[in-house]
Amino acid sequence: MALKKILIRKEKREFIEDLKKEVRISKKRMYYVEDLEKDFHTNEGIIPKSELRKKDGSIIKTKQGKELIMFSPGFIDNYKRIKRKAQIVLLKDIGLIIAETGINNKSIVVDAGSGSGALSCFLANYVKKIYTYEIRDDFIDIVRENIKMLGLKNIVIKKKDIYKEIDEKNIDLITLDLPEPWKVIKHAENALKIGGFLVSYSTSIPQTADFVNEVRKSHKFLFLKTSELIDREWKIDGRRIRPKSDGIGFSGFITFARRIK
Ligand code: SAH
Repeated sequence: MALKKILIRKEKREFIEDLKKEVRISKKRMYYVEDLEKDFHTNEGIIPKSELRKKDGSIIKTKQGKELIMFSPGFIDNYKRIKRKAQIVLLKDIGLIIAETGINNKSIVVDAGSGSGALSCFLANYVKKIYTYEIRDDFIDIVRENIKMLGLKNIVIKKKDIYKEIDEKNIDLITLDLPEPWKVIKHAENALKIGGFLVSYSTSIPQTADFVNEVRKSHKFLFLKTSELIDREWKIDGRRIRPKSDGIGFSGFITFARRIK
């Protein structure tokens, strides 16, 4: 992956004598520099390309004399720039999947459908290998692009209908984000290792209920739970503190089951 940089302009606050309080003069801003060979334009002015070669933590000045802090992006900075076509699984929900299943750098995962590859790409940064199933070529192209942008080497894209079969065996985790996830249960019974997890993400309750009811019928699976995760960001401005009103609303229900036989 070619060298990129992040530039941060910190928020500006000033004490206003007349108001007897600190007031925010300008918002914090973050820029992602993709091409270090060109001057970079910001709201604070132009940054000459020579500045972009400085080391992490350097304070960079625009031609207009405004200061920004520069550092190299980490995985998450690049991840936030992935292309999205379908609704992706959000970070809060990915966090729950990782935490509840305890997947790690030894784990092998099957994910379907790939969609934009958001879930696959994020998990790939944690696990040994991911097989991602997708039936549509237009989505596969986006997944390929995202994998390349993130420089991931451990994702295998499979153009395949997961309702028909799963080729892999001895899998640690199967993640589903599909219209009819219950159609995968019988394949998951054989693809997962005993003790492995089956996780399904659905945006509607009827879909979730049909999946859970089918999982319960399988003697090979233990139904663990269905959760919705609420992540509410708070605004903290001096002593004016309250939940933000423009946060993420509802995303989806996540169902966890485990192969026990
Ligand atoms: N979790 C993904 C989004 C998935 S969107 C992300 O985070 O980016 C659902 C995807 O499932 C769509 O791209 C759709 O084409 C694909 N899909 C639907 N049925 C499928 C099937 N039977 N096998 C494989 N993929 C399927």
